[in-house]
Amino acid sequence: MKDTFKHQGMRQQLVDTLIKKGITDKAVLNAIGKIPRHLFMDSGFIDHAYVDKAFPIAADQTISQPYTVAFQSELLQIKPGDKVLEIGTGSGYQCAVLIDLGAKVYSIERQQELFKKTSKFLPKIGYRAKKLIFGDGYKGLPNEAPFDSIIVTAGAPFVPKPLLSQLKVGGRLVIPVGDEVQVMTLFIRKGPKEFEKHEHGEFRFVPMLEDKN
Ligand code: SAH
Repeated sequence: MKDTFKHQGMRQQLVDTLIKKGITDKAVLNAIGKIPRHLFMDSGFIDHAYVDKAFPIAADQTISQPYTVAFQSELLQIKPGDKVLEIGTGSGYQCAVLIDLGAKVYSIERQQELFKKTSKFLPKIGYRAKKLIFGDGYKGLPNEAPFDSIIVTAGAPFVPKPLLSQLKVGGRLVIPVGDEVQVMTLFIRKGPKEFEKHEHGEFRFVPMLEDKN
């Protein structure tokens, strides 16, 4: 589990790439410059860790593209201390970025293999989520609601109602919506029944599936 100067240099280049692609949030760029993404991938693939691409992890899933992680994180506008729900823990990389931004993170994963692996791994490198949950993100986490922000890191065929209802007033839901291609969608809760919707371009994610596996 080494992080060398070479890795740090490659990370800085990745940060420069993200700046060129339009990411401006300093705290997000700082988190990406700091978190050793190569440790979130199997050791044979370390050369792929700092190119701006998604990459396969266990259970047929992927670690999201760094640009996508940065873009979603920027849309959330996290303030230190915010209570944040993530759907799709996966490798834990996005989760680590949220923790670095100062969020108290609750993250749900439906693949048991990934849930187990990431639950062990994240604390080992010093990133402590409030709670990692093996479960179905379509239901959200009613016992811990409401949240300042909710982020979905899998492609959702529709917007699950429980996620909207588990937002605080003023809270933000960032969710890629669609089947083959997804539109990055931001919902801001303006009142008990009032939501503002903004669309932010097309992305491709692995699908959000129902139930546990
Ligand atoms: N945030 C992750 C991205 C992983 S890919 C990372 O940074 O690595 C998306 C993840 O969402 C996969 O691990 C997949 O198993 C999970 N997922 C898909 N549908 C889900 C659901 N209904 N509830 C919870 N997790 C889900």
